[in-house]
Amino acid sequence: MRVLGIETSCDETGLALYDSERGLLSHALFSQIAVHAEYGGVVPELASRDHVRKLLPLIRQVMAEAETSPEQIDAVAYTAGPGLIGALMVGASVGRSLAYGWGIPALGIHHMEGHLLAPMLEDNPPEFPFIALLVSGGHTQLVQVRGIGEYRLLGESLDDAAGEAFDKAAKMLDLDYPGGPHIAKLAERGRAGRFTFPRPMVDRPGLDFSFSGLKTYTLNTVAEHAQADGLPDEQTCADIAHAFQEAVVGTLVIKCRRALEQTGQKTLVIAGGVSANTRLREELEAALAKIGARVFYARNEFCTDNGAMIAYAGCQRLLAGQTEPLAVNVRARWPLDSLPPLSA
Ligand code: ATP
Ligand code: MG
Ligand code: FE
Repeated sequence: MRVLGIETSCDETGLALYDSERGLLSHALFSQIAVHAEYGGVVPELASRDHVRKLLPLIRQVMAEAETSPEQIDAVAYTAGPGLIGALMVGASVGRSLAYGWGIPALGIHHMEGHLLAPMLEDNPPEFPFIALLVSGGHTQLVQVRGIGEYRLLGESLDDAAGEAFDKAAKMLDLDYPGGPHIAKLAERGRAGRFTFPRPMVDRPGLDFSFSGLKTYTLNTVAEHAQADGLPDEQTCADIAHAFQEAVVGTLVIKCRRALEQTGQKTLVIAGGVSANTRLREELEAALAKIGARVFYARNEFCTDNGAMIAYAGCQRLLAGQTEPLAVNVRARWPLDSLPPLSA
């Protein structure tokens, strides 16, 4: 089975062709970072318009690269939510229409299921069951995963998502959007021990997160050390980035370890943009080795939004016989644990 995957939930246009026998055949991504840069965040209307511009050329590109004609495609999978409603509508309308025109089924895929399954695209994929830490721009969730579509939410952020906290801290330090990679780079030059930021909610039982207090702490620290231009000196900025990253990573590691211990699982999957963070990977590897558990993640380009994860999720659901009617339904909000299991 060969599936075309379309991702347009936010500010990246992602396309891919996945084949159940041969694996990932081709993928392409256009990131709108430059489109939104001067606004310091994603402008929904501009995102929708840019998806309109990029979708068809990128579909042609992945089909040409994989030497695949429409007759060789068995289904079209598109992101149906959660995300920006206009951006979702673009991918959904194009995906649904292509499927109709080609006489094949379409599948509306949950964006976070896509992220969660992205590590399956790697050479040594994790095996079910596992615990998943979803850490992206809009989500911070711990999920118990028995199989595809069998998700139990164990905990989540009560306020900001981890990626959102990275983005906001970056803004305070006058770094570009999206801030995660910039904070990580600046933090390499930061000195350990200059600042210690609070690790939110780690002393409380349970598996929920909170990052808004850390954000305020960062803002206050920046203000305290600000010079005439409103920013601390370079070294202090690096020290703040370092302390901030250590606090986020430290919090995530403690909760992941707790989730594994509480459920007796030995496999952790991390997914979403923040799972590209090197410090998070290192710290998790070290902490999990102590309890005989292992961590799995996707290559960096499949941690953030991409079409490959949607094509993969679509292919698994197609193989299980799932398809959907002609209506185009997208959802700005969509609880992950409301998805049907594969056997349903
Ligand atoms: P969602 O998936 O919840 O709808 P999203 O699609 O915007 O949100 P992703 O594309 O998965 O999120 O990830 C983007 C986020 O990941 C941004 O907040 C970005 O700052 C963060 N990020 C990317 N790389 C890194 C990194 N190396 N370290 C920390 N954060 C990172
Ligand atoms: Mg993005
Ligand atoms: Fe995402």
